[in-house]
Amino acid sequence: MPQFAPTALKVLNEQIIQCSRCPRLVAHREEIGRLQRRAYKGQEYWSRPVAGFGDPAARLLIIGLAPGAHGANRTGRMFTGDPSGEFLYRALWEAGFANQPASVSRDDGLKLRDAYITAPVRCVPPDNKPLREEILACRPFLVEELALLKRVRLVVVLGGIGLDAYLSVLQDAGKIRSRSAFQFAHGAIFQTHEGSPAVLASYHPSQQNTSTGRLTAAMLKEIFIRARAFLNAAEASSISSR
Ligand code: SF4
Repeated sequence: MPQFAPTALKVLNEQIIQCSRCPRLVAHREEIGRLQRRAYKGQEYWSRPVAGFGDPAARLLIIGLAPGAHGANRTGRMFTGDPSGEFLYRALWEAGFANQPASVSRDDGLKLRDAYITAPVRCVPPDNKPLREEILACRPFLVEELALLKRVRLVVVLGGIGLDAYLSVLQDAGKIRSRSAFQFAHGAIFQTHEGSPAVLASYHPSQQNTSTGRLTAAMLKEIFIRARAFLNAAEASSISSR
């Protein structure tokens, strides 16, 4: 009998945080914890891989990129403790997927409802640029998460790397023939194959995107309002077809 998903996800997350497959990333995540940013001097940095976070029964899955150097790599929770996380969780809260807008530490009381956040790379990469072999080394964790999150109906990908990682999992499993049929564009929504979750693409809330206005708070809120409407419509259509 398959393990009940919350237990299996917990086991998976324990495995993730013990991982040291990528020597370059292990060295980098630990170095950031040693050097620290002045504002966080004296704090104990997490400096380990960061596991997925959220509701095991989620219908919405969010795929980002990798932990932030002084955000998730410091606090140990996805998108927590940096400006990217402030942007993301406020939008999730506004669309009803989070119980509070702020995300500052692992014990701040934040809970996600109907949403789960993950990343194709679990350790902070130098310059936010993971190598291809690091993305490949981390992929089995994403594959396992996707298998365990059985209620997912919509995947929001934050940026092109998140999209490519998700499509690569589908391609490896033989569910799609090519990734090039699905091009990244902010706001694009598509179905990859019959019976699959839909995919909704958004720019990543990196400081590079938010400080230049490429992604505004209103644009990200709109993404999750659309996600909410999509899930409500999917629920209504499954009730009417029963
Ligand atoms: S990036 Fe993934 S595979 Fe590489 S060390 Fe971190 S958790 Fe392990």
